[in-house]
Amino acid sequence: MHHYRIPLRFRLLFSVITALSLVSLHCSGGINMFSTETDAQLGKQMDDQIRRNPQEYPIFRGNPAIRQYLQDMTNTIIRSEHVQYRGIFPYIVEVIHDDNTINAFCTPGGYIYVYTGLMKAVDNEATLAGVMGHEIAHAERRHGTSRMTKAYGLQILLQVALGQNPSQLATIGANLFSGLALLKNSRMDEEEADAYSFKYLQSTPWYPGAIKFFFEKVMAASGRAPQGSQSTLSAISSSVERLLSTHPLPQDRIDATNRRIAEANLPPPSETNLRSVPYRRIRQLLP
Ligand SMILES: [Zn+2]
Repeated sequence: MHHYRIPLRFRLLFSVITALSLVSLHCSGGINMFSTETDAQLGKQMDDQIRRNPQEYPIFRGNPAIRQYLQDMTNTIIRSEHVQYRGIFPYIVEVIHDDNTINAFCTPGGYIYVYTGLMKAVDNEATLAGVMGHEIAHAERRHGTSRMTKAYGLQILLQVALGQNPSQLATIGANLFSGLALLKNSRMDEEEADAYSFKYLQSTPWYPGAIKFFFEKVMAASGRAPQGSQSTLSAISSSVERLLSTHPLPQDRIDATNRRIAEANLPPPSETNLRSVPYRRIRQLLP
């Protein structure tokens, strides 16, 4: 009895294809060739790079209660039953001292960064929690490594499998860190992150629809500031433009949030679940 031996490189290729089909079965957001552990490792490496670049990412060195407040908020949100990777992703928050940037972002594997500009722009805890839920959703839905999978494609996987380019994975890693280009989410990713944020917040003390107040603010600020103006609003308007360039239109996101509020039969928000008074005390700690 003799049997045909499949060469090693083809066996590797088959195992990659098998792994790919398994991954695609388990991930509704498209194929992702990375493991969740890799997401966490990539996030750690990006976090190191961010901390080594204070010019671009000045870490807030003021009252540590601010960072802790955001960390506590995050810890509450990730207790949601809809959060899958809380044991694998660290979900660590850091504050970036930049009042002109009304934004937050998250690496793969859940390293979250909040700009002081965002904290000053929102009026209550629930709105900030909505944004935090949105960032957590980018990590949970693995938007970063899904996009990387699309960008590098099957071709790279095959090259790696066939042993033509064994250093390719290292190259992917190196490209990932230059410029953090990966952080630009697609419109679909943004919409999905809004939808998941709403789900997460339903098991928290915060009104799940409050992220719409953030979008309303963005719209008001962009509408008020005249083009090319050097007024006091120009700083706000330029950071709003940056945010709008990577995010879907705020009106669409307000409409989608209102649909979710109606579907969930939520009563109108109150101070109990918006928490604007306790939030004012936190905001006063900012310089
Ligand atoms: Zn986003």
